[in-house]
Amino acid sequence: MTSKFFDISIPLDFHGPQPNAFGVERAEANSLGDTRSGSSVNFERYSFTPHCSGTHTECVGHITHERISIRSCLEDIIVPAVLLSLEPERDSPEHYSAKLPGDLHLTASGIDTALARVGIDHRSLLENEALVVRTLPNDPSKMAAVYDERNVPPYFTDEAIEMVMRFGVKHLLVDLPSIDRISDGGILANHRSFWNIPPGSFDADADTRRNATITELIYVPNNVPDGEYQLNLQIAPFEADAAPSRPLLIAK
Ligand SMILES: [Zn+2]
Repeated sequence: MTSKFFDISIPLDFHGPQPNAFGVERAEANSLGDTRSGSSVNFERYSFTPHCSGTHTECVGHITHERISIRSCLEDIIVPAVLLSLEPERDSPEHYSAKLPGDLHLTASGIDTALARVGIDHRSLLENEALVVRTLPNDPSKMAAVYDERNVPPYFTDEAIEMVMRFGVKHLLVDLPSIDRISDGGILANHRSFWNIPPGSFDADADTRRNATITELIYVPNNVPDGEYQLNLQIAPFEADAAPSRPLLIAK
């Protein structure tokens, strides 16, 4: 059986343009053998930083002393999902620990507006396990965007993350390098809220949402309309806090 699906990952081109966050080295392929130079096969060694070089899915192990792997946390194969386009708001009145003047915010009121636009009731969202966020404007240049203190992308406010939690969202996917401010002094307030880790803590406990995941640096093409889908969240089987991933939205 084949279904109509939309790939919302950013292809990782080792030889071409790439997104980059936090100023890390670009993802590279080093040739160990090349048929064009007489080798019987092509084989390359890849070096990259999953959190910064492209679409990746992470688990609570991103912020805990305990080593927890995304492979062991991600139990879902196909889950219901809602795709929403959110208009960031500059200097919104909503709260955030490391907010700076001029920043763009993804707000609870913005989520409300986007839900109303697609006619999805808050109660039906409770049935949905994944929320996919496309920030506006949605330019394809996002696929090779460089994010740093000179180009601070939007981030969620406290109220927005509280709303996402209230909806029971288990998998949050965003086209941003982080759900927190790109440099927030290491507080990672939204990451901690989402996994239910207390502020300042590096410890997972019985209340931690171990099976909840965050996927960052996706790109949702403009021909994919907002609304309800099934999400197939595919990850590379890394025993690491994050792995490159390939989320697919399957039309209902
Ligand atoms: Zn990350």
